[in-house]
Amino acid sequence: MRTYGESELLEAASAFHGHLGPYLVLGLKAGELANKIMGKDPFKMRAEVFCPPKPPHSCILDGVQFSTGCTMGKGNIAMHPSEGVKVIFAKKGRSLEISPKKVIVEQISSLKRGAIEDMSRKIYGDSVEEIFDYDLKPSETHKTNETVHSAGRGPKVSR
Ligand SMILES: [Zn+2]
Repeated sequence: MRTYGESELLEAASAFHGHLGPYLVLGLKAGELANKIMGKDPFKMRAEVFCPPKPPHSCILDGVQFSTGCTMGKGNIAMHPSEGVKVIFAKKGRSLEISPKKVIVEQISSLKRGAIEDMSRKIYGDSVEEIFDYDLKPSETHKTNETVHSAGRGPKVSR
């Protein structure tokens, strides 16, 4: 399977998406962060994307699909219409919640048309700490399974 180098990824994703925009880049960066923390796996990872259901915000979906391989076709990405923007990745009993920082969202919403591509490239070069708040934790499903499992053991559990 072909993987892209860092500079190629932005160009390839823009070609896939149709233009270079800030929410595409936020999706790419969020996906790259999830790959780094949880390990890239286009089959075992799942992405839940919360965003207003139209561009520019929904462009984040394509960035996430492109970087993680969680795709509509495989059914391991879903969009949940919401006012704010966040992505929750799940893999192997862990979940990673990523949301763009308020200051970044505000910068994007006040962008002039001609500055969109420059801003997108700038965001792509920013460190994840500058643009995201993120939190890795055991996933809800995992917790539920554990509860069911230990409850099922009944008397064998010493308390
Ligand atoms: Zn777009």
